[in-house]
Amino acid sequence: MIENKFIFEKDAISLYRSKDVTEIEKDVETIFKDNSKIFPKKKNSKILLKPNFNNDLNSMTGNSTDLRILVGVLKSLKKRGYKNITIADGPNCGINHIGIDVFSRLCITSIAKMFNVKLINLNFEPGKLVDLSTGKVEIAKICLESDFIINLPKLKTHVEAKITIACKNYIGCFKGTEKRKIHDNLPLNIVSIANIIKTDLIIVDGLIGMEGRGPGDGIPKKVGVIISGHDPFITDFLCSKLMGLDYKKLPYLNIAIEKGYLTSKDIEVLSKVERIAKFKKGNKTLLDRILLNNFFIGIRFSNTFEKFFNKGFLPWLLFKLRVKQDKYILEDMNIKNMKVKENLSKEEIQKIDNCLKAYCPIKLKTIGDKDCLMCMYCYQILPSLIEVDGDLGNIKMQNKRFGKYIRED
Ligand code: SF4
Repeated sequence: MIENKFIFEKDAISLYRSKDVTEIEKDVETIFKDNSKIFPKKKNSKILLKPNFNNDLNSMTGNSTDLRILVGVLKSLKKRGYKNITIADGPNCGINHIGIDVFSRLCITSIAKMFNVKLINLNFEPGKLVDLSTGKVEIAKICLESDFIINLPKLKTHVEAKITIACKNYIGCFKGTEKRKIHDNLPLNIVSIANIIKTDLIIVDGLIGMEGRGPGDGIPKKVGVIISGHDPFITDFLCSKLMGLDYKKLPYLNIAIEKGYLTSKDIEVLSKVERIAKFKKGNKTLLDRILLNNFFIGIRFSNTFEKFFNKGFLPWLLFKLRVKQDKYILEDMNIKNMKVKENLSKEEIQKIDNCLKAYCPIKLKTIGDKDCLMCMYCYQILPSLIEVDGDLGNIKMQNKRFGKYIRED
């Protein structure tokens, strides 16, 4: 349900509060209706959805774009008859090199099949060199050639960029290790990228954000909002205030101000906005500064040394030192069956019903339904009430690492 509309000089941003899947889909549909004039007339126009699928941590951890929003967007697009829809992202270099199928782990492969839309990994797409402030970097061409781009970022803090929302989400459009070149001057390059890629619509997933050491080592933060806009700078500018952060301390937004993408009028509008949450910042430690510089990263991804960073002592040590954010489980989840535990009380059964209404992206009414995606959202909320037959694989690690925050009210 719409809660507020913020009128900036060049864009109007809407804030929705959505408490369950039905409300999320209604809010997405309202965004589509309100933006009906900007959608392409031709039903075979190339529509690109750019979510944040940087690694295999699912939406309950606060890391990746929520399937509930993705499904809502696909339903609204299909309802309007669009035939040429592509979901696209380029997961991070580390997970890419190990060969983990992020799309399959996040159930995006199943969703794409269900809606009969294309799904592409931008790391392996034909590329084109574009000029950033620090030199030429190869971007997946499709991100420059689509007719309509819907940016579906997550609401997160970030150790290096301070926040990652609409502008930084486009780093996933760059191919493989090319992404690393962007870090030569991250704030300036984020601003360049947000200008190079033509955004048509932004739908920010603020249902469960991430605070602290994002993009992958933070803490899930339940906010329950969706934010829609068109201009990535204004959207991020507003989001930073809604998250309780000071834009003056966010380098790329200050560059956007210097370059005139955000005006004094925008700053005035922002000064009247109240925060809706207080996100903890994710600051760089001294070790981050030393070991996350490009010299070290270059060694890490070189042919000679890469294998030592993929498994064994070194990645374990870097993870323990919190320099490496990701801890990957190579075995995929392998669940044969899921069911509600026996002898549950009335209250516990009610909890499961409520959980499915709130979290099941495809609105299933029972655990163990034949159409289940195995996204494990319900299991991550209520693990003590649901029995699984098989190996939880990466979900086991996610529950160990983030479970207590996922289940906090
Ligand atoms: S029942 Fe649970 S695991 Fe299956 S699709 Fe729904 S939320 Fe995901």
